[in-house]
Amino acid sequence: DTAHDVSGHCRFFIPEMDDGSRRRLDLDTALRRALEREEFTLHYQPQVGLASGRVVGAEALLRWQRPGHGQIAPNHFIALLEDSGLIGPVGEWVLHEACRAARRWLDAGLPPLRIAVNVSARQFRDHDIRGLVRRALDATGLEPQRLELELTESAVLRDADKVIRTMHELNDDGLSHALDDFGTGYSSLSYLQRLPVARIKIDRSFVSHITSNPGDAAIARAVVGMAHSLGLSVIAEGVETEGQLGFLNGIGCEEIQGYYFSRPLPENEFVALLREGRCIPAAQAEKPERVL
Ligand code: C2E
Ligand code: MG
Ligand code: MG
Ligand code: MG
Repeated sequence: DTAHDVSGHCRFFIPEMDDGSRRRLDLDTALRRALEREEFTLHYQPQVGLASGRVVGAEALLRWQRPGHGQIAPNHFIALLEDSGLIGPVGEWVLHEACRAARRWLDAGLPPLRIAVNVSARQFRDHDIRGLVRRALDATGLEPQRLELELTESAVLRDADKVIRTMHELNDDGLSHALDDFGTGYSSLSYLQRLPVARIKIDRSFVSHITSNPGDAAIARAVVGMAHSLGLSVIAEGVETEGQLGFLNGIGCEEIQGYYFSRPLPENEFVALLREGRCIPAAQAEKPERVL
């Protein structure tokens, strides 16, 4: 049969695979079982409004508790989920679980928050995201205004016309969109104008050197100015220091998210933080950094 090529090497014999392919296959097999074995969980990272100093939203971030491997971060498996098509069922679970969590917090009498869910290009392209969202909202009774989908520039660019059309439909249904990791792609101003997003998330890579690198500071300032002139709100991700917070506040950024305020937390810890009423003291938010 075709199992041997002309050089006599076995082509399809599994042990011939290099370590990399072997690991990928193991990971793929394990991921296939992870959903039914309930190994996925969501962590929640607070998004803080700088005007009030309070938590105004939460980003749901996927975690995989892989037996024998501990907790695995999404960067190690999201691409695999996309390649295998598993992103469909896993993404559906994420959306439902995030909406259920937001519902639980409301039912517990906590102040209403916005819940942000990451969606990949593949989910937008290959799956009925609108139907999916509607089912998740119906099942939980969550108001669509509470839900925000985070998409990256590259996700939108991959099939711009179709993705933009779907985003408009979702907006009609009452939810909003944020453009994630902004600044890492190649969106032009005119292009950004076409995107039905309510919010721009300044990528962590600009935020980390915002107080020391004049270039990054200039980009952040330009992004905020541009966003505001288009009527969009801005949130900065990866804010780790008081200096970064002060600078961002000084240039008019509306919200921050990052380790400075809190890491992504398991639900019980996130709820404890809400109950505690943890906030950014106004004095900190108001202290503007030296403007570069
Ligand atoms: P993202 O959407 O840009 O999420 C922000 C990432 O930055 C998260 O990493 C978060 O833990 C991390 N982060 C937040 N604050 C800080 C900080 O102050 N410093 C540093 N160094 N990092 C910070 P995480 O949770 O590992 O997620 C990585 C990416 O995986 C996400 O990037 C998102 O693109 C993707 N992802 C996560 N959950 C999902 C999901 O449910 N579905 C899809 N499709 N993608 C997801
Ligand atoms: Mg995100
Ligand atoms: Mg991001
Ligand atoms: Mg990022």
